[in-house]
Amino acid sequence: MLNRQTQDMIDDIEREVRLTSKMIGRKMLDPKVMSVMAATPRDKFIPKSQLEYAYNNGPLSIGYGQTISQPYIVALMTDLLELETGDTVLEIGTGSGYQAAVLSQLCKQVYTIEYVPELAELAKARLQNLGYKNIETKTGNGYDGWPEHAPYDGVIVTAAATHIPEPLLEQLKPGGRMVIPIGERYFYQELMLVEKDEDGKINRKDILSVAFVPFQGER
Ligand code: SAH
Repeated sequence: MLNRQTQDMIDDIEREVRLTSKMIGRKMLDPKVMSVMAATPRDKFIPKSQLEYAYNNGPLSIGYGQTISQPYIVALMTDLLELETGDTVLEIGTGSGYQAAVLSQLCKQVYTIEYVPELAELAKARLQNLGYKNIETKTGNGYDGWPEHAPYDGVIVTAAATHIPEPLLEQLKPGGRMVIPIGERYFYQELMLVEKDEDGKINRKDILSVAFVPFQGER
């Protein structure tokens, strides 16, 4: 049995998935993704001042002008990656570490990069304290990806970019998937699913309008 707040969050995500099912091309998300959403303590990833909203289906401030994404968006982006247990994933925009924690329970290894050093340090300590062992964090500009561990089965960008960073495309494995919000920095973006086929051909698909904080340091 889930506690009341968690069950409400799960119900809210499922409701929003149904409301947007035409756009996102699915009536429900993978039950594995939903059970990881239910098992990840969102209250441990936010500032104490926001505690009463921890399980609301909305974004929350995490300081430094940044946010932890809405649970529905975290679940949807995770679902779109269609992860398998042996997969390696690169995340750009660690923020609170929540999305990385969710991903880590569905794949072999997560590498995550955060631009704001204070947030990177906080997330690193938090993930360690909570016992997530297959997540490696670093401070830096995610535009360049993390070539040492490439190629990745999945790449997830959680800040709004104006274009797909070329290094991230290069570091995506043939057969791999990337989810990234693309658009104007301070307005809405399109959440885009980018697939690289076995021959290296790129296929892009707009999924949904979203609003993310800006990607810093684009080149
Ligand atoms: N995934 C996060 C939400 C992140 S908000 C979570 O689960 O909490 C977006 C984050 O992307 C912010 O923390 C921001 O500082 C970071 N960011 C913006 N541009 C970046 C870049 N070029 N490289 C790495 N991180 C970046």
